[in-house]
Amino acid sequence: MAEGRILIVEDDPKALQLMTDVLQHAGYTVIHATEGSEALEAARGNHPDLVLMDVQLPGMDGLEIARRLKEDPTTAKIRIVAVTSMDLSGEQTEAMVKDCVGYIPKPISPRTLIGLVAAFLAAGRRRKA
Ligand code: MN
Repeated sequence: MAEGRILIVEDDPKALQLMTDVLQHAGYTVIHATEGSEALEAARGNHPDLVLMDVQLPGMDGLEIARRLKEDPTTAKIRIVAVTSMDLSGEQTEAMVKDCVGYIPKPISPRTLIGLVAAFLAAGRRRKA
């Protein structure tokens, strides 16, 4: 079974349910937040190994939440992955995602999600070692 604590920040209940089911089934511990202040609090209180951050959220968007997590010394080292239907591979958007280690495309494919989450967690563990 896979190990790791993952904070999912997502306002769409269907996407949240799908990601939760897939990741829990794989063995991960999953924590939820649906908006900015809840996400900041959950990150500070739960020390997740990875944050899956929906970019398009009502109020504070995911990139702003990511920026705030990086500014706070207690959460600055948490790895953040943007989750979005936008194409973030272009140069123009590179600056936007500087606080994230990468992104997962929407709509969510369970196989892609599992593969990318495992890869991002492994990369984080290698950096710590
Ligand atoms: Mn959204």
